[in-house]
Amino acid sequence: MDMMTMNLTDFKKIQGKINTVLVPIGMIEAHGPHCALGTDVLIPREFVRRLEESIGDKVLMAPEVTYGHSWGLAPFAGTIDISSEAFSAYVYDICKGFYHNGFEYIILFNGHGGNNSSLDIVTEKLADMGVKSLTVNWFIDYREDIKRIAPDPGHAGEDETSLVLAINENYAYTKGVGSHEIPLPKRFRFKDGGKALYPEGFSGNAEEATWEKGEQLYDLLVGKVLKDIERFWSL
Ligand SMILES: [Zn+2]
Repeated sequence: MDMMTMNLTDFKKIQGKINTVLVPIGMIEAHGPHCALGTDVLIPREFVRRLEESIGDKVLMAPEVTYGHSWGLAPFAGTIDISSEAFSAYVYDICKGFYHNGFEYIILFNGHGGNNSSLDIVTEKLADMGVKSLTVNWFIDYREDIKRIAPDPGHAGEDETSLVLAINENYAYTKGVGSHEIPLPKRFRFKDGGKALYPEGFSGNAEEATWEKGEQLYDLLVGKVLKDIERFWSL
């Protein structure tokens, strides 16, 4: 069920019958020199497209939240950073709106690590209000599985770049990009620290990314996400 193209008559028909909404949460930010700035929106959108085939009749697929919070990549060109306070308040209000429209189960499909702590704040407040939520942080939740296909994942790393290539081979390139380690513990914080953590705006071995790995990752992860959603519905 695609909310973006649905009319009010059809929306009213599903209210009370469908109690789950999936809201993709993204970010527009630097993804190395090689990956689309909208990577964190494109990947959740692609997951929605693939999930729709299995659970499209049970879940309202909502339009995505395009901009998010990125302390780490804020100093880079191409990053449009929303403060964590504004972002949390905005996402909370969106979710509250869905709850008031009868959606008790809310899935936040998050494409961007910098959003995580804000989404924790949001979902705790929602839970206190009576909402059941599942936040899918695909790059964290299934990291060990991901490494079996893309051994050197990261921000615009082998996994993300592969997933973008599988959407469209023109949205990323790999030749000459290389590999970058994060040189400091991420828990160190200092002004413009992201530039020290991500000297080239990415981490992991992007050079090894391929669209075939991207396809394998989608196949694997869609199955994992579906299992998590089934468990979520047993709450
Ligand atoms: Zn990303």
